[in-house]
Amino acid sequence: MLSDPAITVSAVEYRDRLTVVQAYRFASDPTPGQVRALLRHAGAARLAYNTGLDQLARALKNWSDFRKGERKGRRMGFPRFKSRRRYAPSVRFTTGTIRLEDDRRYVRLPRLGRLKTHESTRKLQRRIAEGRARILSATVRSEAGRWFVSFTVEVQRSIRAPARPDAVVGVDLGIRTLAVFSDDRPTATNPKHYDAARRKLTRSSRAASRKRGPDRRTGQQPSNRWKSANAARNRVHHRVTARRRDAIHKLTTALAREYGSIVVEDLHVAGMVKNRRLARVISDAGFGEIRRQLAYQTVWNGGTLIVADRWYPSSKRCSGCGVVKAKLRLSERVFTCGECGLSLDRDANAASNLASLVEHVVVAGSGPETQNGRGADHKTRPGRAGGCETSTPHRAAPAQVGRGPSPSDERITEIMRSR
Ligand SMILES: [Zn+2]
Repeated sequence: MLSDPAITVSAVEYRDRLTVVQAYRFASDPTPGQVRALLRHAGAARLAYNTGLDQLARALKNWSDFRKGERKGRRMGFPRFKSRRRYAPSVRFTTGTIRLEDDRRYVRLPRLGRLKTHESTRKLQRRIAEGRARILSATVRSEAGRWFVSFTVEVQRSIRAPARPDAVVGVDLGIRTLAVFSDDRPTATNPKHYDAARRKLTRSSRAASRKRGPDRRTGQQPSNRWKSANAARNRVHHRVTARRRDAIHKLTTALAREYGSIVVEDLHVAGMVKNRRLARVISDAGFGEIRRQLAYQTVWNGGTLIVADRWYPSSKRCSGCGVVKAKLRLSERVFTCGECGLSLDRDANAASNLASLVEHVVVAGSGPETQNGRGADHKTRPGRAGGCETSTPHRAAPAQVGRGPSPSDERITEIMRSR
């Protein structure tokens, strides 16, 4: 199942329903004729973009908002002409007949007609049949030699409560292990899909490099053999991505369903990835993706995600007595406290510190009023849970408004200062 609830554009809450906009993505098997039609449409869409219709306004706005500092997220440059080479062919439909067939094996799209899906559309079709989902648009896109159709859907989700609403877990994301938890939950091992597939990648890359590839300078066209070797290489990449996504989804879903509060560190992923030695392994572990998924998963499951300040010394602080070490080398895998003699695994110590950060705060914010009227949330100081991409409006600025810093708020500042 490749449904990827990737974009949580908005989260409007009612008493027992949560309306979110999310994406469902299905691999599809278009007929050769449909592939030709898709490529034609994608080409036409590109042409339309390039002649500056409609979509260009949005791109310009992204660029100017970014310049004015009004837009979060990835850097937005001045819109560029789309080239056939650089862009994966993609068509987006917003009007006309867009629906899933009842047999859950076909989707119907404007101009293209019935498009076979590679996997069952059950999850989305069921919601639509129950009247709990509405398709807003559909995009067909070619990725790694396969066509995917993704629907942007407005979904009414019933609000869930975590299995253990009062439980707090600190999650320390690591490189050697994917995540270490503050309670007795077993460590999530790093799947390292990339490493496992690296030999395959090397082999397939070498195979491609032996064939006559494209050359922009000489205008050399790729041979058919190169094209097929290159497609094989892309498939390896794609498989790695899919497996990693699956592992991360399972981890974040399990956490959000169980714990009322989840605390993570605000790792500066973009900055860390710039460090070339760490980049591959960090990108592979998908730190940023874990954070992003936890942000919307906690909203969907009625929990809270707390993001510790980037400078909170979760590793250098002793989870027993609170003393903060001046220095802790990355090679020191066991944390030993000079004050109280506590000695435990470095990552477990960090996870405990993260969890205890919340336990302090929970006392502070627990007032009778809740922001969303269901009382499941906001016992804690708001973290920057939304991150850049996900907007979780109800978490924007609750407890702090109109209230001075509570004692435990001060304690946090203190902890952070004593670094
Ligand atoms: Zn200590």
